[in-house]
Amino acid sequence: METKPRLILATRNAHKTAEIRAMIGDRYEVLDATAFPALPAIEETGTTFLENARLKAEGISREIAGLVLSDDSGLEVDALDGAPGVWSSSYGGEEGNHPMNNERLMREMAGKADRAARFRCTMVLAENGETLASFEGTVEGSIIHERRGSGGFGYDPLFVPTGHEGTFSELGDEVKNQLSHRARALAKVALWLESRA
Ligand code: IMP
Repeated sequence: METKPRLILATRNAHKTAEIRAMIGDRYEVLDATAFPALPAIEETGTTFLENARLKAEGISREIAGLVLSDDSGLEVDALDGAPGVWSSSYGGEEGNHPMNNERLMREMAGKADRAARFRCTMVLAENGETLASFEGTVEGSIIHERRGSGGFGYDPLFVPTGHEGTFSELGDEVKNQLSHRARALAKVALWLESRA
């Protein structure tokens, strides 16, 4: 039996791993940082998605042999001048607290007529501490007033992708994984990996 090439994700976010595994798990053995408990936590001190994605991919690939893929992502809202952006995961005041992040977003957006927003994902592939390539994916949409749906994670209950009626949470994994910022960045990663093989 042919063994699949291994891809190590520089994340401990189980939602990101599940989405990436659902999208390319048939072609790659996808592991994440939780499979390597001794790995150091990488501080995200960058001010852009690319800087943070490079910090994570390069940092983890210094510790583990093989190809490492990072994902730095977030929500950009036009009426909030691009916030929460790179600080999406701690917008509500506590790192990774999605209910608090959603509460703050609803508060900041109260009374705003312009609801346009996009999710952005930057992925970096690295090996031996060096970046090999970076990839971008975005999905346009709008922010609704109250959360709807229970799927996905993060700001999914408040984000309706353009051309759809439901939020990412309502549309479910299968639809989200076809059109999300992560899916679009990952499709480019897969093309790059295939052209290299
Ligand atoms: P990171 O782990 O620093 O890349 O932060 C990602 C943060 O952006 C998450 O904690 C969410 O708040 C937000 N985010 C990124 N991707 C998604 C998504 O697919 N759905 C909803 N929120 C997302």
